[in-house]
Amino acid sequence: MGTIISSVVFLVFVGTAFYFAYRGFHGVYRNIMLGRPEDLSDNKGERFKTMMLVAFGQKKMFKRPIAALLHLTIYVSFVITQIELIEIFIDGAFGTHRIIYHAWEHIPALRALYVFTIDFIEVLSLLTFAVTVAFLYRRDLLKLPRFTSLDLKGWPNLDAHLILVFEMILITCIFMMNSFDMAANNNEYGFWLSGIIAGWWSGADQGLLEIFEKIGWWGHLAMVMVFLVYLSYSKHLHILLAFPNTYFSRLTPKGYIANMPAVTREVKLMLDPNAQVEPGPADGSTPKFGAKDIFDLSWKNLLDAYTCTECGRCTAQCPANLTGKKLSPRKIMMDTRDRMEEVAVVLDANKGIWKDDGKSLIENGHISVEELRACTTCNACVEECPVNISPLDIIVQLRRSLIMEDSNSPNEWNGMFANLENNAAPWQFSQQDRLNWESDN
Ligand code: SF4
Ligand code: SF4
Repeated sequence: MGTIISSVVFLVFVGTAFYFAYRGFHGVYRNIMLGRPEDLSDNKGERFKTMMLVAFGQKKMFKRPIAALLHLTIYVSFVITQIELIEIFIDGAFGTHRIIYHAWEHIPALRALYVFTIDFIEVLSLLTFAVTVAFLYRRDLLKLPRFTSLDLKGWPNLDAHLILVFEMILITCIFMMNSFDMAANNNEYGFWLSGIIAGWWSGADQGLLEIFEKIGWWGHLAMVMVFLVYLSYSKHLHILLAFPNTYFSRLTPKGYIANMPAVTREVKLMLDPNAQVEPGPADGSTPKFGAKDIFDLSWKNLLDAYTCTECGRCTAQCPANLTGKKLSPRKIMMDTRDRMEEVAVVLDANKGIWKDDGKSLIENGHISVEELRACTTCNACVEECPVNISPLDIIVQLRRSLIMEDSNSPNEWNGMFANLENNAAPWQFSQQDRLNWESDN
């Protein structure tokens, strides 16, 4: 009877966690798809290679080897630790105890493989615990500028700390589960690290050992489920999204900025009224220039925003930020994600139908005009990003909207724009006068 109750509790608990996780991930997918279409289905081979190098191989992280190694330890540990979950899930569902161990205990090679796997997980867990402490030290005691800047105040800072605390609780639970299990079973399994810890509990009451083993087991499971549900609300979504985001990286040359077709057509016709140009919209409507809100950005821009790890490497190299301007490319990505979440609240309240909330991504507590104007379009942020995100692409689109839709540009720029429009050049004299300097000689 006890076994049935425990299995039911397990299935209800895990089922509820998966349901909420599904809702979270579905919301993220829905929000990304609010962006306009962009075709990135070409060059599949090159895309796969980029994904393997940048997301799986963490190539760009190794520009800073120490940080990269610390990060890699957590990443590998995160992946490998999940192996232990296979047995936890089977035991939970069927009310068994270490079912894989008992199935393999009389087959020496498989038994050794089982013990090696748990030992490996425990060594990685111990290393990860140390790395987690180092990350907290770096953030809270060393106070690296990229972790203490204003754009991380509030939720982003709490998010970063929560995940580190979750990690430490999870590792503690793994060692509790294994070491109390070892002590309760006279070190039967032969695990190395938890065997040492089990020595601390020797002589304790058998009932107590089993209770603490269960606390570790349920704690381990609970932390994994909490992490699963929490992921879609956290910057740690990059653990999953780094793969599609790097796969769909833009493969254009570095620093390439796409032209606006409508402007290209106008310029070509301006230079040569008989030029062959692509036709405009069939219905004769005026095209929209740039982006004002998330709906005007492409789905890839929105995927970028959800993939941002908030590491601040882009901001640390941004010349505008380094010279004291308000612009932070990290904040551009965080604001884009925040605006998506704001839009999602309106959609959820109206059964998925968008009702204009009178706000947009520009101003309204998100990206200010001052920030947009500060960008030099140098591409350093794109170059630095470990998961191939382009804050610059969003900045350029927002700035185009500011200038071409709202005529919102500083007076210093307006003279140049008027000259471009009238003279096809930034200078004040007409095209016919360009070569006058020749006849002066
Ligand atoms: S492109 Fe703009 S935002 Fe990116 S690093 Fe250069 S100045 Fe900063
Ligand atoms: S855009 Fe890239 S470099 Fe900048 S904070 Fe996000 S993940 Fe880090």
